[in-house]
Amino acid sequence: MKVDYIIVGLGLAGLAFSKELEKKGKSFVVFEDNSQNSSIVAGGMYNPVILKRFTPVWDAIDQLKIAIPFYEELEKQFNSKYHYSINIYRIFKSVEEQNNWFIASDKPTLSEYIVPEIINENHEGILAKFGFGKLKNTGRIDTKLLLEDYRNYLLERKLIYNSKFEYSELKIKEEIVEYKNIKASKIVFCEGFGLTKNPYFNYLPMQEAKGELLIIKVPNLNVDFLIKAAVFVLPLGNNYYKVGATFNWKDKTKLPTEEGKKELLDKLDTFITVPYEIVEHIAGIRPTVKDRRPLVGKHPNYKNVAILNGLGTRGVMIAPTVAKVLYNHLENGIGLNSEISINRFQ
Ligand SMILES: Cc1cc2nc3c(=O)[nH]c(=O)nc-3n(C[C@H](O)[C@H](O)[C@H](O)COP(=O)(O)OP(=O)(O)OC[C@H]3O[C@@H](n4cnc5c(N)ncnc54)[C@H](O)[C@@H]3O)c2cc1C
Repeated sequence: MKVDYIIVGLGLAGLAFSKELEKKGKSFVVFEDNSQNSSIVAGGMYNPVILKRFTPVWDAIDQLKIAIPFYEELEKQFNSKYHYSINIYRIFKSVEEQNNWFIASDKPTLSEYIVPEIINENHEGILAKFGFGKLKNTGRIDTKLLLEDYRNYLLERKLIYNSKFEYSELKIKEEIVEYKNIKASKIVFCEGFGLTKNPYFNYLPMQEAKGELLIIKVPNLNVDFLIKAAVFVLPLGNNYYKVGATFNWKDKTKLPTEEGKKELLDKLDTFITVPYEIVEHIAGIRPTVKDRRPLVGKHPNYKNVAILNGLGTRGVMIAPTVAKVLYNHLENGIGLNSEISINRFQ
């Protein structure tokens, strides 16, 4: 079999890159072994404001201009719903935070998102002594459903192998790569935290962060916005909410733990006062990089071996942009910004 590309990994990075290939009429096959599940468990939120300090997220506003149409196009392709507009209500901890909110809302880049007032609404079941700061034009992508639909689509077309990519079987030649019976012009690795097993790229400084989440049912909490305090509470509909997330830099497994659950519940109980039932407990590993920037580019010694990784805590916003950038780099020779290029770690 001869294709233009082999893609290893079908999380948000692999999906965004394969979509780019489809659009440009390139052929490809994907390998996926379910060893990681960051994109499947993710909260799926997009929000260009850092909720600790009320500062802009790196490059987010430009990324969103590409990301929203990208997900909406997929909705059309699969006749399904992935994109939900959801406001964010940040619970203030103090008067100082309220003041900082107003200062942030004056910044031209954030004024489209930060509502410049203190929201003093009463909502049953939520403690918010200092009120809320409201963010608009934010939302959620149902990444789990999107990936399921996309995997099925590839399966029907026989474009995905549900198997582990064995690095030792890869043969890199001058103009092509070979993997078992497949010949391809290029290979792109999109393995998330799986990168650490990849002999071509495991020199890159990933500083992965495991995250745990709970899905809870709260019949008396009737909100359609995300509540952000010590943890976030994200409405999923029908009284279900996602609660997250923990950050653990030591545990390298994707298994939920009692410790993680306790942390989430202790934090949740500081601001939610109505009864809830725990429905599910999930976990995954965020492919975070030491300098908190994506990992994009060609292997220093092999021009037909590339990487798309390091989406960190914000894969929903970043993936569609970096997929385009990598495509243009590989196919059209367009240089990479030094902030995202893996050359920064040579
Ligand atoms: C708890 C939690 C909450 C999060 N919340 C948000 C959020 O609200 N908003 C947001 O934008 N981001 C969020 N993220 C981050 C987001 O999930 C990541 O940025 C993004 O999903 C990373 O995508 P990826 O494709 O690079 O990696 P992954 O999703 O890990 O995908 C990599 C894929 O490669 C496969 N793979 C690896 N090695 C091999 C191999 N050898 N052979 C075959 N297949 C292989 C894996 O099975 C996996 O499917 C969250 C993450 C976590 C863990």
